[in-house]
Amino acid sequence: MTASFDRVMKFFKEICAIPHGSYNIDRISDYLADFAKARGLEYIQDDLKNVIIFKAATPGYENEPAIMLQGHMDMVAVCDNPSEKDMEKDGLDIAEEDGFLFAKGTTLGADDGIAVAYALAILDSDEIPHPALEAVFTVDEEVGMDGATGIDLSKCKSKRIINIDSEEEGEIVVSCAGGVRLHADFKGELERITAPCVFLSLDGLLGGHSGTDIHENRANGAHLLAEILCNISEEYEIHLISMAAGEKDNAIPSSGSAEFLVSDLGDPDDFMLYVEEIENILKDDYLGIENNITITAGIQLPQESMCFTKEDTLNFFEFLAEVPDGVISYCDDVDMVKTSLNLGILLCTEAGMSVDFALRSSVESEKEDLVNRVTDVCISHNGEVSASGDYPGWEYAKESPLRDKTVAVYREMFGKEPLVKGIHAGLECGVLVSKIPGAEAVSIGPNILNAHTTKEKLDLESAKRIWEYVLKILSMK
Ligand SMILES: [Zn+2]
Repeated sequence: MTASFDRVMKFFKEICAIPHGSYNIDRISDYLADFAKARGLEYIQDDLKNVIIFKAATPGYENEPAIMLQGHMDMVAVCDNPSEKDMEKDGLDIAEEDGFLFAKGTTLGADDGIAVAYALAILDSDEIPHPALEAVFTVDEEVGMDGATGIDLSKCKSKRIINIDSEEEGEIVVSCAGGVRLHADFKGELERITAPCVFLSLDGLLGGHSGTDIHENRANGAHLLAEILCNISEEYEIHLISMAAGEKDNAIPSSGSAEFLVSDLGDPDDFMLYVEEIENILKDDYLGIENNITITAGIQLPQESMCFTKEDTLNFFEFLAEVPDGVISYCDDVDMVKTSLNLGILLCTEAGMSVDFALRSSVESEKEDLVNRVTDVCISHNGEVSASGDYPGWEYAKESPLRDKTVAVYREMFGKEPLVKGIHAGLECGVLVSKIPGAEAVSIGPNILNAHTTKEKLDLESAKRIWEYVLKILSMK
């Protein structure tokens, strides 16, 4: 078995010698097609450059159901010093230290080159027993799963997908979220008013990833900013000039700012005290979660400005207060968030207010329900909504012989229970499962640390164990 793991490393190093960052996949795709050609294996290389390689069952496995081994051929190509290495053209400098493989000054691309290397080593071997195999190598997973979305799987017979794109040994991922982006526009009426102008900024929030951090109940900078402004508008008449929070729909905003006129400001000191009071209340509300909430405000002398009417200003704030935020529901079967909503970008200028949401759910019907709910709230506040980038989730299957088998083999090989879990982020499994009626999938992988960074490293002992684990799953009838 050790000899065959050497073959895995041989292929992994060949892959590392070929630049293969996302959108730069022609060469790696041709390498895979050439691999199949050289061995007389049937293969498909499609227009997107996805590659599927087929291999017949080994003797004795002809009656076993076919299996799909799947990974993505692109990597996140990041480099410490772009003047020294051109990730578009140069291969990686691989090194080994303390049992870890890494690439000097760059990402390693074990995410997901290790999946490709495992599959090639199996396809290359005459000795490894397995049922009919379909090795599916997708392009551009890291930049929106374009390959998985566009791939035609109609020539594939397998209904059992082993995706090797997880990064923690001992975990078997069995469900993931799908998603859709929502954009909403709100128009408002402007008027010209002369009044003191306030600049207010909210800082110090943790922010985070809208999928993997959403269960932490962190404050969303856009919603919290609106809450602060709502509170101020309970005591003062305010007219919004501008407002902004967040930069990406899939990140939780960690700050926000607004500019507005206050037509009944009175004593500026009283206003500042009122803002301080709001800050103290929020600090209490988020104690233990957000410990660095900071609100700063500055007041300018009365000036004439174009701003939104009081009614439209309140309409914007009310929308932001009413639209759901964060975790909507949890999954009953595995410990994971099922459905969530993140307001990632808030922008208000003279043209009006726009918001961008990332909506995630592992259950298609819940995703649709939430889209409808958000749309209703938008419409009730005179907003217009559009959706884009819809991709399917991967719902937890009540019954899955493949999952049962991977759990049983893990238990038998390693003498302990694997952690069967779902993740509230995207994996290609969702897209692929949705293309094959009755398909089931699991996602596994060896320990990869700091993926997507130049500190990425592959745990070699772990890679060896997962290799043997994959071979055992294939050989078990
Ligand atoms: Zn990956």
